[in-house]
Amino acid sequence: MDPFAGTEIIIDDTTLRDGEQTAGVVFSLEEKVAIARLLDAIGVPEIECGIPAMGKEEQASVRALVDLGLNARLITWNRAVISDIQASIDAGVTAVDISLSVSDIHIARKLCKDREWVKEQLKVALGFAKGHGLYVSVGGEDSSRADLDFVAELMAIARDLGADRFRFCDTLGILDPFTTFDKISFLRAQVPELDLEVHTHNDLGMATANAIAGIRAGARFVNTTVNGLGERAGNAALEEVVMALKHACGTDPGIDTRRFVELSKLVGKASCRPVPEWKAVVGERVFAVESGLHADGVLKHPANYEGFDPGEVGLARQIVLGKHSGSHGLRHRLAALDIVLPVVEEQCFMTRVRCRSQELKRPLGDGDLLALLTEMHHAA
Ligand SMILES: [Zn+2]
Repeated sequence: MDPFAGTEIIIDDTTLRDGEQTAGVVFSLEEKVAIARLLDAIGVPEIECGIPAMGKEEQASVRALVDLGLNARLITWNRAVISDIQASIDAGVTAVDISLSVSDIHIARKLCKDREWVKEQLKVALGFAKGHGLYVSVGGEDSSRADLDFVAELMAIARDLGADRFRFCDTLGILDPFTTFDKISFLRAQVPELDLEVHTHNDLGMATANAIAGIRAGARFVNTTVNGLGERAGNAALEEVVMALKHACGTDPGIDTRRFVELSKLVGKASCRPVPEWKAVVGERVFAVESGLHADGVLKHPANYEGFDPGEVGLARQIVLGKHSGSHGLRHRLAALDIVLPVVEEQCFMTRVRCRSQELKRPLGDGDLLALLTEMHHAA
């Protein structure tokens, strides 16, 4: 029984699998538990949590996550090999992603096999998994470079053998949103009975855009990672996909976004990949305004220059004073320090603020402002 029947879009977050697969990233068990708990707490319905076939330690960590008794369904990544699926069963999960290479280049140059062999692998692995009552996502590795007629043929086999969905992977991150839309639409039309999932990578900076395009074309499931962590340039970022769905597409996938910054910091620290302050949605300074025109507009009415309320993701608006500031922003910042400047001093102080910020190559903090004020009054 599909626990998501009737739900429009389901997030499968793979921070703990594809995210950890990033070169140089390792999570401790405590970190995995903390990340899984927070993903669960904000309402992520499915968490891809590891690769049990990697060995006893990974199996034990998947088992520990299963034992948390989260609301989120846990799913593991497996090659289309019975021993992999058995390792997942042993780790206690009830859902698996079974991955197969589906492009001719992978089939010939990586596996040194042919399409018939791939179909056989699918039948054997899927038969085994369904025979053990598992929920199965069939993952098409390198789907973006594959012959789509062959992918549709595999999807039909998967459907007939009881698979629950098919994961379309842009493994190398080479698609654009328009091509993604066309490919997902084609597969959707060929095998409408089988749910589709999009798994995208950010090599060309389009992971989120491609994920959204896939959803628009009818994919019901989408793979994300916190901060877009993932192999090479990363995956589609959870926070970006969710906010894009809400604010660009008018669809709410039911995630409590107010803890996005907390989650982003947790994963940034655990992965030793600090989040840039300009990172979309969760960057510390994406709601900082300096330019006189924008600060004035935001102070008059936040929606003038904010696409969504910063509190919605756990951030706060910042009026920053620097080279581009205007008088409205200046007055606002000084008011927060309980300072009201006489109008005659305001322009002089503004000039000093701009100069100091240029010297320091950064906006000015409260300490800088107070020091500048003292200097100005001494000079007067
Ligand atoms: Zn991937």
